[in-house]
Amino acid sequence: MRETTPRPNNRPIILPESGSLDNLVKPFQIEGMNVRGRAIRLGTAVHDIITAHDYPQPLAILVGELVVLSGLLGSILKYEGKVTIQAKARDQAAVNFLVADFETPGHVRGYADYKAAALADLGSDASFRSLIGSGGYMAMTIDQGADMERYQGIVDLDGDNLSDCAITYFLNSEQTPTALRLACGLDPVSGHWRAGGIMVQHLAHGEEGGPRLLDRDEQENWRRASILMQSVKSRELLDPQLDLDQLLYRLYHEDGVRVFEPTDIDHRCRCSRERLLSVLQSFPASDLADMVEEGRITANCQFCNRHYEFSPEDIGL
Ligand SMILES: [Zn+2]
Repeated sequence: MRETTPRPNNRPIILPESGSLDNLVKPFQIEGMNVRGRAIRLGTAVHDIITAHDYPQPLAILVGELVVLSGLLGSILKYEGKVTIQAKARDQAAVNFLVADFETPGHVRGYADYKAAALADLGSDASFRSLIGSGGYMAMTIDQGADMERYQGIVDLDGDNLSDCAITYFLNSEQTPTALRLACGLDPVSGHWRAGGIMVQHLAHGEEGGPRLLDRDEQENWRRASILMQSVKSRELLDPQLDLDQLLYRLYHEDGVRVFEPTDIDHRCRCSRERLLSVLQSFPASDLADMVEEGRITANCQFCNRHYEFSPEDIGL
């Protein structure tokens, strides 16, 4: 069992030694407030996900942001499991769907399906709304193994950006006031994709499942914590020179911020030759026969784009 949720008795770890400023998520708590949060920073993990498919810029940003969101949500898991976020647009949208998932302890992956010509027509700085169109939805699935119930929450994709949609999800599905920012962009120096995010949530004050008790002081604290969080700039979330401790200090030094041990994140796909083989073997033999080209059946993983080749004998033809 793995505990990732910060508890009041956890010893705070301030400025822990770490090899890299990237590919990690850090829980934190603001002193004197019932507010907890998480900050995430991705370097190579998100660069690998985006460049595996060479997505056009506006879609690359969206994929990166969705991976960040999966990292923020997934790192809250108390037990082994996974979080999957799927964003599905209506038929007429340039982007068909996006998916990102997080598997404990910290593996992320993601991909997008889109209409190349329609996306090119939208240009390089297409907005979230123009990419997704109207009438889409986002589903978040939390799966914590066989003994735990699978949970799924759904929210309409009708915000101006992915952050807004996620905030609505937290309000509707978990009744948790949440402020959240996501960012993804190309680093001008290295030319590599980077992504980052931060979220703060107001901790439940009432009993589990009961009404949330927000007295005046609490409301003022929450307002202050969320406004300070909103002041973060996208470039700060992405800056390779600014580590997350510095960023959190910048935002919350007046109140004091307690930073907990980070979780390392990496890009890891769950595809394997065996897994793909069992998928192929479920196809009708006639379909498989049609897939043979030059004596081989080839397939690429839709997530990581890894290439697999099989002989007809491998599949039992
Ligand atoms: Zn894969």
